Amino acid sequence: MIQLSTRHTFGLSSCAQAEVVLSSLEQVVAWCKQPRDHFYILGGGSNSIFVEDYPGCIVQVALRGIELTEREDSWQLRVAAGENWHQLVAWSIEQGINGLENLALIPGTVGAAPIQNIGAYGREVADFIAMVDAVEIGSGKPLQFSNQACQFGYRDSVFKQQWANRCLVTAVTFELPKQWQAQINYAGLDTLDKPDAATIFAKVIRVRQQKLPDPAVQGNAGSFFKNPVVDAQVFNTLQHDFVSIPHYVQADGQIKIPAAWLIDQCGFKGQTRGGVICHPNQPLVLANNGSAKGDDVVAFAREIRDTVWNRFAILLENEVRLVGRHGLITL
Ligand SMILES: Cc1cc2nc3c(=O)[nH]c(=O)nc-3n(C[C@H](O)[C@H](O)[C@H](O)COP(=O)(O)OP(=O)(O)OC[C@H]3O[C@@H](n4cnc5c(N)ncnc54)[C@H](O)[C@@H]3O)c2cc1C
Repeated sequence: MIQLSTRHTFGLSSCAQAEVVLSSLEQVVAWCKQPRDHFYILGGGSNSIFVEDYPGCIVQVALRGIELTEREDSWQLRVAAGENWHQLVAWSIEQGINGLENLALIPGTVGAAPIQNIGAYGREVADFIAMVDAVEIGSGKPLQFSNQACQFGYRDSVFKQQWANRCLVTAVTFELPKQWQAQINYAGLDTLDKPDAATIFAKVIRVRQQKLPDPAVQGNAGSFFKNPVVDAQVFNTLQHDFVSIPHYVQADGQIKIPAAWLIDQCGFKGQTRGGVICHPNQPLVLANNGSAKGDDVVAFAREIRDTVWNRFAILLENEVRLVGRHGLITL
């Protein structure tokens, strides 16, 4: 049995039956050639909570390496899936390659970054991905996904939809234009005056450290729920009843509502259920008080979802992957 408590940042003491570590492309292809079920590809475990023992195989992609190519107008970075995301961002800034600074301190691996299209402080990784290399599970066939083929959306991609569980990401190629523009139109960064990328990088780290619990100190998996996006008609009705509702108009005219506000309005901030706490500073984060059980997590998340639904008629969707004995659990 493989103990998973140190393998996912929420830190529940669940077990998996077996583990395979793939350290070369040959090993990846050989593993992918066999028809597979009951496996879970695990990066840093920062978007996955093992709420039950998992009677399958954990697959760790330990591919390493960064290839840097200079082009006339851009830098191209081809990065192996097993590299650490934050270390990549720090390294790129040190090299004077700008662009990824707003995405500093997001835990996890490079291979997982395109899966949910990680984003923070007004940027999404989709803005910089040129290509994702993968291997098809079942055939071992190499695959390449262009940015368009990845079908990136808000915390979404083809890898969570048509290609879910059907391919293993081996490398991600980033295209970072040399002509760089700071993105500081975001609370926390908007006080910076003509900053360079290294200043934004340092500021993002400081703000995140103040706002979010460190999983090394208190187990958590970041934002538990996605921010719901509704159409203008739904929003207008809501705003009529809840005048102060915060909101962000999206490029397509839809409205994003902070899930943290909805959860806070329902009085959950700081509340505990079993060993799980709805974080007192950031109610979008559920955290492990040290004694949390998988059942506590699922029950509390369902209670929050149902209460928000009853009050606002908005259905919260979990951003975190909840892994149970039969695979992913839907709330
Ligand atoms: C404190 C904290 C803060 C966070 N802040 C943010 C934030 O600001 N923005 C944000 O977007 N996210 C955030 N997250 C969530 C998380 O860090 C990201 O989703 C990250 O990309 C997960 O990486 P991971 O390697 O830990 O993924 P895991 O949890 O190990 O895996 C996530 C999913 O990707 C799949 N996967 C992983 N690697 C591969 C691969 N090589 N091939 C195919 N599938 C794969 C897994 O099967 C799983 O479905 C935060 C999490 C924490 C704990």
